[in-house]
Amino acid sequence: MADTILERASGIYRQMSHAAMRAGRDPAEVRLVAVTKTIQASRVLEAHHAGLRVFGENRVQEAQDKVTSAELGPLRSTIEWHLIGHLQKNKAKHAVSLFDMIHTVDSLELATVLDHHAERLGKVQKVLVQVKLSEEETKHGVPVDGLIPLLEGISSLRNLHPLGLMTMPPYLEAEETRPYFRKLRELRDDAETRGFPLPELSMGMSHDFTVAVEEGATLVRIGTAIFGERA
Ligand SMILES: *Cc1c(COP(=O)(O)O)cnc(C)c1O
Repeated sequence: MADTILERASGIYRQMSHAAMRAGRDPAEVRLVAVTKTIQASRVLEAHHAGLRVFGENRVQEAQDKVTSAELGPLRSTIEWHLIGHLQKNKAKHAVSLFDMIHTVDSLELATVLDHHAERLGKVQKVLVQVKLSEEETKHGVPVDGLIPLLEGISSLRNLHPLGLMTMPPYLEAEETRPYFRKLRELRDDAETRGFPLPELSMGMSHDFTVAVEEGATLVRIGTAIFGERA
């Protein structure tokens, strides 16, 4: 593996472009979310110096520390911070004040609380709906048969802007994740025919992002392949 963040990230962009072009897609449709959980602010700054501008965190408190750090605080307006981890309702207020996009909305209760805090902050919160495509108990997300009812519920909340779907398949060999990514795209296409425009598909991690891009990902969430193994 190349040894600087810049070299690793440019290698990932090349693989993302190739995967998009293999599938007949415009590579510009796919954005890289650099997953910075457990990574110190100084290394996130190095990633910013390498041109990365979208960062994904999975914990509200850790993100708060990083977003407001001496290194990254002054760069706030140049960065998009995304929440990619499960969100508890009691952290919703902080999440709305911190994140440009929340990938993990999986219930109408959570959506309603987020909407309330967005209204109080005078913000329209961009969100994705996390879908549970496997039966693993540890995986969060709305079950497939709850997706359309949840989208209907969210559509009546004036301060949330649902932009797409997110999923986390079970940890499998890259090629074995393909049916999950394809399923998410089909669910999105089905939702669009019912009148819910959902351009974004957040899917794919370090070991399977090329498959996800071939299947339609617009946001790939990559940590290890950029920053190395987490401690
Ligand atoms: C940690 C994490 C990732 C990135 O995983 P890597 O294998 O390090 O690329 C992506 N998505 C979510 C939700 C994560 O928690």
